[in-house]
Amino acid sequence: MSDSRSAALFAAARRLMPGGVSSPVRAMGAIGREPFVVARGEGAELVDVDGRRYIDWVVSWGALIAGHAHPDVVAAVTARTAAGTSYGAPCEGEFELARLVVELVPSAEMVRFTCSGTEAAMSAVRLARAVTGKSRILKFAGAYHGHADPFLAEAGSGLATQGIPASPGVPEAVVKETTVVPWNDRQAVEQALDGGEFAAIVCEPYPANMGLVPPQSGFLGFLREQADRAGALLVFDEVITGFRVAVGGAQEREQVVPDLTVLGKVLGGGLPLAAFAGRRELMEQVAPSGPVYQAGTLSGNPLATAAGRVAVELARDRALRARLERTTSELAGGLRELARELGVPLYVAEVPGLLCPFFASQPVRNFEDARASDAKAYAAFARAMIERGVFVPPSRFEAWFPSFAHESSHVERTLIAARDALAQAAAE
Ligand code: PMP
Repeated sequence: MSDSRSAALFAAARRLMPGGVSSPVRAMGAIGREPFVVARGEGAELVDVDGRRYIDWVVSWGALIAGHAHPDVVAAVTARTAAGTSYGAPCEGEFELARLVVELVPSAEMVRFTCSGTEAAMSAVRLARAVTGKSRILKFAGAYHGHADPFLAEAGSGLATQGIPASPGVPEAVVKETTVVPWNDRQAVEQALDGGEFAAIVCEPYPANMGLVPPQSGFLGFLREQADRAGALLVFDEVITGFRVAVGGAQEREQVVPDLTVLGKVLGGGLPLAAFAGRRELMEQVAPSGPVYQAGTLSGNPLATAAGRVAVELARDRALRARLERTTSELAGGLRELARELGVPLYVAEVPGLLCPFFASQPVRNFEDARASDAKAYAAFARAMIERGVFVPPSRFEAWFPSFAHESSHVERTLIAARDALAQAAAE
């Protein structure tokens, strides 16, 4: 590694960019190694600048449900590029994608496109605050909704806590309006809502940024009831789950319809695109049809909407969805089996299209449980996997992302690497 082209490029990059990266997790600090530098992606694989190949279970953190460089996505983007890359005026591509979102996502009657999930989540909160005339938001410990100030709140001690800034630079006054409670904890939600006036309950319906921690049975329906009781909006952040766990997202799978939905990742087919969507009377409050300001120079970009349209059309293909489910359960089941054989305590969370192995002997129900999982064992495991040419998330708090491009052979090769990597993790 040390005399590789990756290492040389990354050493130089560290002098140019903080940590050498454009987004922190890419630096692989949590597992104590340096990243490889990518030359190209092909289907379910990445190739680095030294020509090493990796089976990719990160696939741009879930943005590439069809895998890297899917020929239909490449063709759509290439064709659009020749017609100009941004107009600053309406174009048909965004209308077509909006129509698809409205058709597929149960809560979506209207949609506003943005360039990132961060912007979309931030804007959904602004809208919720505007329409309810209240300012507090309720979020869950360990959930991630991008890096806008209201979400960079951390739980203090206690069941339901007023947020404290999770980063320097975030004003206390902003996160004081954010209450943080443990996921899957009904009592904490009720208690928090009784203690103030809330604009919104914001959640990832299948939290996938604390590892993967699906809701306990009935918990999303409970949140729906509680939001109604409190006169707050229910906001589902489906940036990860949208078009992935079901074509209509977790809300389709769980039959719980939020007021507003945040979308991203799959929606943009690997280009910068996200959105917030919801009921017509709410969305009509957004400028220019309403007073709630929200805008973006590159929002609804023609390349991104073209890529997104292909990706979302692929995501509704039944055969591809069946394959995604099979890949997920084969990989999750295979990891469980290996761990059992080797006597390694491993709890593998799984929903269609997402999985996450925790080095823990008990089921993981919330962020506290996730944090109690063995960080050193995951780091050793992930390092060993990457050394063996399998790119798994370099953090125990991230989900693994199967794609339509992954085949049984990728699962088999991953499990061969995992046998050694689990043994190594157990030995360290
Ligand atoms: N919400 C969720 C659930 C996410 O997983 C992410 C990013 N991983 C975001 C919001 C923020 O999206 P972006 O990185 O596009 O700003």
